[in-house]
Order: sequence, then C-alpha cells, then structure tokens
Amino acid sequence: MRFLIIVNLAGKLAAILVCRTAPATALALWFTPDAVLAYHLFAPHAQGLVRVHRRFKTLRREVWLTIDDGPDPEDTPRILELLAAHGAHATFFVIGENAAIHPGLVRAIADAGHEVAHHTHTHPLGTFWCASPARVGRELDAATEVLRSTGANPMRFRAPAGIKNLWLAQALAARGLTCVGWSARGLERWCAEPREAASRATRGLSPGAILLLHEGPRVPANIRVAAILLVLERLKELGYQCVVPRPDQLVA
Ligand SMILES: [Zn+2]
Repeated sequence: MRFLIIVNLAGKLAAILVCRTAPATALALWFTPDAVLAYHLFAPHAQGLVRVHRRFKTLRREVWLTIDDGPDPEDTPRILELLAAHGAHATFFVIGENAAIHPGLVRAIADAGHEVAHHTHTHPLGTFWCASPARVGRELDAATEVLRSTGANPMRFRAPAGIKNLWLAQALAARGLTCVGWSARGLERWCAEPREAASRATRGLSPGAILLLHEGPRVPANIRVAAILLVLERLKELGYQCVVPRPDQLVA
C-alpha cells in the first residue's frame, strides 16, 4: 500500500515540475498513478492494497462454497437444508446489520457445522473505497461484536463486491481477519435465470476454487436459492466436495 501511495505522490510532484515544459507528460504523470490506484481499489483480485486469497491448496476434488449478504429469513433456512441434503459445508459471509436482526439464523449456520464470516456491518458498497480509517474500523468492529454475541468468532473477511480501501489491510491485520476473494462468482443480480448464474459460478472449475454466491433480496426472486441448488447438483455430478479450508491452505 505504501508503495502505491508513494508512487502516486511522486507522480503528482513530477507532473507539477514538468507541466510548463511538457504538458502531455505532466498529464500522464498526474493521472496514471491514479488509474493504478483505482485498479487496486476496485478490481476484486488486485493484490496491491490487501492480500486477497482467491484459491486454496488441495490435492482432492474440493471447492469452497461461500455465500454472501445474509443471513436472510427466507433464504438461509432453505440453503441450510440444501447443504445438509448434499453433505456440503460452506462459509456464510454475513452482514452485521442482518445478523443483528436475525441472530438465531447466525446460530443455525454455526450449529449446522458451517463457518460464519465477516462481510462488514452495513455493506457500504458505494462508499467503502473512500471510508476513513475510523469508519473502516467501525464497519469491522460493529459486525464482529454482533457475531460474537451469537457465539461466532469471525476470522475471515470479504469486502463488499471485493472493493478495497487504503486503510483496510492495517485494520484487518489489527483484528486478526484474513481477506478472502473468489475464483468464480455467480453475479446473480445480472442473470436472467438460475442456470446462467450456476454455470458462471462453476465455469473452469478445478480443485481449490472459491465459489461466490449470494442470498437475500438483492438476488432476483427467480434466482434466489435456485442457483445454489444448481451449483450443488453440478458439483455432485463432477465429484466435488464442498469444504471449508484451513487458514494454511489459502493462497492469493
Ligand atoms: Zn456482499
């Protein structure tokens, strides 16, 4: 992170120095570092600001199914039934505000043997990238407090839509949280039907993949839960197990 900020400031300084003699160069020096910084903030897999784990090491036909944005009173119980029926384990990256409304669902997730993980307190999709250090800390601490009150102890974090922040790496490290991305996702909000989301989430599947799907009202009604069922069925057809990897298995 420091390197990106230093390069950005150095570019600005150089641009000021040459702006009279070489205006085109000055423009490039001014804006190119901004573009690089924007890439590392907004590209979900960029590693320049925060180390994001995108896969896990395994020699078996195993994948990590992760479900974001819950818990949800309609979807979570149905998803838990599907996971049980398929002998699958998953990680639920839950939003603190939702967990505060439905603590029983958080306990049900953990009681069923799944992992409860951290997906911020308010899911600030549009403003997380520019949140102050204090606000990033509040997003992390408020959700952790809610989750701990249910008995869960979140160790892994996923940023909203994978969008990062200049202060995130330090804030996560101070709280012992590991940042997890994905290797494939359903992008359900932009799908017309569940098969489309399931096929996108399982495209190019290989051992150690991290699959991202969603629950809750942001997912179109016809796709909610149905896409997860199709993914579980596809994984079964291909002989894959859904597991929750140990921390030492994660790779960037
Ligand atoms: Zn989310």
